[in-house]
Amino acid sequence: MSEQQKRYTLPEDQIPRQWFNIAAVMPTKPLPPLNPKTKQPMTAEDLYPIFAEELARQELNVSDAWIDIPEPVRNIYKSYRSTPLVRAYGLEKALGTPAHIYFKNESVSPVGSHKLNSALAQAYYCKQQGVTNVTTETGAGQWGCALAYAASIFGLEAAVYQVKISYNQKPYRRAIMQTFGAQVTASPSMSTRAGKDILTRDPNNQGSLGTAISEAVELAMTTPNCKYTLGSVLSHVTLHQTVIGLEAEKQMEMAGEYPDVVIACFGGGSNFGGIAFPFMRHNIQDGKKTRFVAAEPTSCPKLTHGVFQYDFGDVAGYTPLLPMFTLGHNFMPANIHAGGLRYHGAGVIVSQLLKDKLMEGADIPQLESFKAGLLFARTEGIIPAPESCHAIAAAIREANRCKQEGKEEVLLFNLSGHGLIDMSAYDQYLSGSLQDYIVSDEEIKNNLDQIEKII
Ligand SMILES: *Cc1c(COP(=O)(O)O)cnc(C)c1O
Repeated sequence: MSEQQKRYTLPEDQIPRQWFNIAAVMPTKPLPPLNPKTKQPMTAEDLYPIFAEELARQELNVSDAWIDIPEPVRNIYKSYRSTPLVRAYGLEKALGTPAHIYFKNESVSPVGSHKLNSALAQAYYCKQQGVTNVTTETGAGQWGCALAYAASIFGLEAAVYQVKISYNQKPYRRAIMQTFGAQVTASPSMSTRAGKDILTRDPNNQGSLGTAISEAVELAMTTPNCKYTLGSVLSHVTLHQTVIGLEAEKQMEMAGEYPDVVIACFGGGSNFGGIAFPFMRHNIQDGKKTRFVAAEPTSCPKLTHGVFQYDFGDVAGYTPLLPMFTLGHNFMPANIHAGGLRYHGAGVIVSQLLKDKLMEGADIPQLESFKAGLLFARTEGIIPAPESCHAIAAAIREANRCKQEGKEEVLLFNLSGHGLIDMSAYDQYLSGSLQDYIVSDEEIKNNLDQIEKII
């Protein structure tokens, strides 16, 4: 057997110095977020009460393609970046596919997922502005862990609302957040008006990212020197994640290849945009023909079965109205184990890109995702996060297509995190007690009918 290189990393001076803002080069710019009361476009100033000012400006920036990574943030990136790009020879062999499969391993970050890339940036901009407290929601707990760690690095207090179902299913993530010094509350809780309202209507409510966002935003709006932070969906979060794709671009070059298909799992779109956008700029600007596939769960299929319209980012309707592919902000997804993918809407930029057919969605049933995760674990030695299993399943579909068509395509997927704190999910899969959840189009339509239509 000839010597085959498996793993590509970059020297420290090759870690990106700027993030890539795809909004600056999009053929159709995204529609603006609207003030829910006046229905007028929001300005950055309108967002200052909730977000750090620099993050609010990044959110609405559709003109600067490159934005400098602050040196203190890049310095901490150096402690775990570049993350490895790995050729999945073991998986290729098991599938008997002619495709070349690569994955970018974001699970090596200190908190085990890509989320830290944005948490560090958000904590830094808050600190720089003199903010003392940050608040947020978390589903599976990945974002909460990332923010808790980033807050401790930059000397901020963090208060995290964790979706109740995850708080109970994943006690280790709560313990990790507390280890990093964060205060953690199960959502919906009685500590906010939004939480009280939800629990009064439905005492057994198990929470969703939407309920937790409502509580965290309320806390930020009612506490002095406290800002809200978000781990997905918003454009500035995806901007920070482009460090993934920018590194991958250089690493693919080291491997002497360029991807035909780029794949990532999809909750709100940040790890997808993070790996995809740097490559997508070459489709937009240089005539490349790479396909971009976002893998979502069949239980929460906003890309493949949702509707493009203005909707709230949260259940209580505190956030601006966002033009997004959505299932309706009151949509309650089934309690699947990929907690990070249980969100009703897609980010503004990805929604426009999907509308313009620059990317595609694939919906993956829960059992197919775990089957893929198991094969990956057994062939590559890494236990993937339940979210990441969706990306692997989509990559396997593509690899099987290549096999049928006899095509030697280059596939690249993002391994957004590891699953070592999700072993109860694997345990349930292995014991045969997990099931698939499929949402009917009628259910989605009923839900969307309750939402005000704004063109
Ligand atoms: C949060 C999370 C996701 C989904 O969020 P995106 O913003 O869509 O990337 C995916 N994978 C892991 C491991 C996560 O923690």
